[in-house]
Amino acid sequence: MRLDNRTAVVTGGASGIGAATCRTLAERGADVVVADLDSEAAAATAAEIESETGADAGRAAAVEADVSDEDAVEAMIEHAEREFDRVDVLVNNAAVAAREADGPITEVTDEAYEFLTGVNLRGPMYACKHAIPAMRDTGDGSGVVVNNASVAALVAEPEMDVYTATKGALVSLTRSLAVEYAPEIRVNVVCPGVVETPMLEAALDDTDGGEGSTGGQETLERMIEDTPLGTAAPEDVARAVAFLASDDAAAITGATLPVDGGYTAR
Ligand code: NAD
Repeated sequence: MRLDNRTAVVTGGASGIGAATCRTLAERGADVVVADLDSEAAAATAAEIESETGADAGRAAAVEADVSDEDAVEAMIEHAEREFDRVDVLVNNAAVAAREADGPITEVTDEAYEFLTGVNLRGPMYACKHAIPAMRDTGDGSGVVVNNASVAALVAEPEMDVYTATKGALVSLTRSLAVEYAPEIRVNVVCPGVVETPMLEAALDDTDGGEGSTGGQETLERMIEDTPLGTAAPEDVARAVAFLASDDAAAITGATLPVDGGYTAR
C-alpha cells in the first residue's frame, strides 16, 4: 500500500478525516497537498506532517482553496503541480453540514441549498474537472480519485435533506466518472458513519435541544447506538482512503465502500 512518487491533493485537509488522510498518505510515501478554506490550519497540518513523519514519508505543502470557487480549485491543482511536479491522487473530502439550515425540507432556503451544494457537490466536480487533466499529464495512466460521501448517501438521515442529497449525488458522480475515465483513472467513494471529528462535535453542539434545535442530536445519538463497532476515529477512514488510492486497489473502480462500523448492515 505504499504511495511513493505519487502526489495527492486532499481537500478539507486541515481538519478531522482530511487531516488524518493527509498524515496517512504522507506516511505511505505520497507528497501531500493539504488544501483547505482555513489556510492557517492547512499550514499547521502540513508543518506537522513535515516534522513528524519518518524518513520514508512524503513531503507536505499547504494551499488555501475554497472548493466551491472554480478559480481557486484550478489554482489548487496548479499549486500541486508547481510544488511536486504532478498530481496522481485527488481526495474530495471537504464538505459542510449545516444542520440548523438543512431541514425539514419545507424550511430550506435557497441560501442554505447554494451553500451545501456549492461545497459538497460543485467542489468535487470542479476538483475532478481540473485534477483529471493533470493526472493525464503524468503519462502514467494511473490517476485515482477518492470521494468522501457519507452513510447519509445510503440510508435515511432525517433533517439533513440537502446534505443527504449532495452525498447521494457524489456517489452517482463516482460511478459515472469511474466508467467514463477507465482504465486511466480509478474513482471510488467512501461512506463514513459516525466519526469523531470537529464536524461531529459541531453537529452535536448545534442540536443540544435548546432554542432552534432541530432534534438532530437524537438522530446522531441513535446512529451511534445503532453502530455495531461504535464511532470511528478519523484514521479509520483515512486508512480506507489510502487503500483505495494505492495499487492494492488496482481492480477497484466505481465502488462505494461504507466505513461505518456496520451501521448500514443493520
Ligand atoms: P471537519 O469539519 O472536521 O473538516 C472539514 C474541513 O473542510 C475543514 O478543515 C474545513 O475548513 C474544510 N472546508 C469546509 N468548507 C470548505 C471549502 N469550501 N473549501 C475547502 N475546504 C473546506 O469534517 P470531517 O468530519 O473531517 O468531514 C470530512 C468529510 O467526511 C466530509 O466530506 C464529511 O461530509 C464526511 N463525513 C463525516 C462524518 C463524521 O461523522 N464526521 C460522517 C460521514 C461523512
